[in-house]
Amino acid sequence: MGEGRKIWRCARCDRELVAKKTIFTYMGLTLAHEVEACPGCGKVFVSREMAEGKMAETEQQLEDK
Ligand SMILES: [Zn+2]
Repeated sequence: MGEGRKIWRCARCDRELVAKKTIFTYMGLTLAHEVEACPGCGKVFVSREMAEGKMAETEQQLEDK
């Protein structure tokens, strides 16, 4: 951690996003993952790539066992 994390801003509030733990439900599984969220309006910013990467990772773990 600590390696040049990109700072995102909410386009509406112009506030820096903060990491927020969010719960996803996928195929009957509950996953907790940190995403960037606006402290002003609460909008969550999660890239499609990141969401799909996380899901692929989880599927792999399931198949390995
Ligand atoms: Zn906002």
